[in-house]
Amino acid sequence: MEKVSIQNQKIFIDNYSIEIIVKREDLIHPIISGNKYRKLKYNVSQAKALEKNTLLTFGGAFSNHIAALAYAGKLNNLNTIGVIRGEELVYKENLNPTLTLAKSLGMKLKFVTREEYRRKTKDSFVNTLINEFGEFYLIPEGGTNNLAIKGCEEILKNEDFRANYVCCAVGTGGTISGIINSSNANQKILGFPALKGGFLNQDIRNFANQDNWGLITDYHFGGYGKIKPELISFINTFKRDYNIPLDPIYTGKMMFGIFDLIEKGYFPDGSKILVVHTGGLQGIIGVNEKLKLKNQPLIEV
Ligand SMILES: *Cc1c(COP(=O)(O)O)cnc(C)c1O
Repeated sequence: MEKVSIQNQKIFIDNYSIEIIVKREDLIHPIISGNKYRKLKYNVSQAKALEKNTLLTFGGAFSNHIAALAYAGKLNNLNTIGVIRGEELVYKENLNPTLTLAKSLGMKLKFVTREEYRRKTKDSFVNTLINEFGEFYLIPEGGTNNLAIKGCEEILKNEDFRANYVCCAVGTGGTISGIINSSNANQKILGFPALKGGFLNQDIRNFANQDNWGLITDYHFGGYGKIKPELISFINTFKRDYNIPLDPIYTGKMMFGIFDLIEKGYFPDGSKILVVHTGGLQGIIGVNEKLKLKNQPLIEV
């Protein structure tokens, strides 16, 4: 995949002497956006080096990683297979926008029950996939492995090392681990998990080689994929004020958290906060479809 150049966008908040710089990784590509580009970069070259012509991965039906991998496969002339959580989806006549896109990019979709999906890392399950599809290069759920971390170590550059804080949204913890590894020891890296509880701290410790980080766990809005009108309203106001779109699963929750922490005085005066916009905007159409069914306010696009 080619080189990318990303812009840092400064935003100003009235009444606070705090500088926020948004690292617009969402602009890398509309589909292979943000951290998913970083995570796939070295995995795609590794698959090619190993002469594997098929990439296989796992994900939920709205997964940014599934969409990104489908696109990356197409660009690199590699076949792609997505193992999708939730058998009931097979029977739906219309796939959601994420899966429709993945399919149109040539991805083969295999739907498995939630129970099977939980066994996805077991050899026995992987072997049934090899029997069905032949040899493939396996990329874990969310794309997180050592090569993904290596790619995420390229997010911070030059002037970014002057920031006192670096913030990013957290799913599996791969992205924040790469950021931690490449940061200066005097910077504080803050992760905002998009899901409740779990083993994140340990997972990040396994990949990260510094301890200048922490997780802010108060802004998951009830759990992964859970959305409240208050969050939608924040995302819409933020876009109107700063002309930066946020996604409702990851970056919207993180930015909501950062603004709330600023109001609560968490960051000392004069702090420079670098906020990594990890992308995820492809998911907005699908989320809006769900919100519409529930008669809730939509994300403005
Ligand atoms: C996948 C994703 C994340 C989470 O990244 P991890 O490396 O799994 O922690 C954050 N933001 C966006 C937009 C994502 O798509």
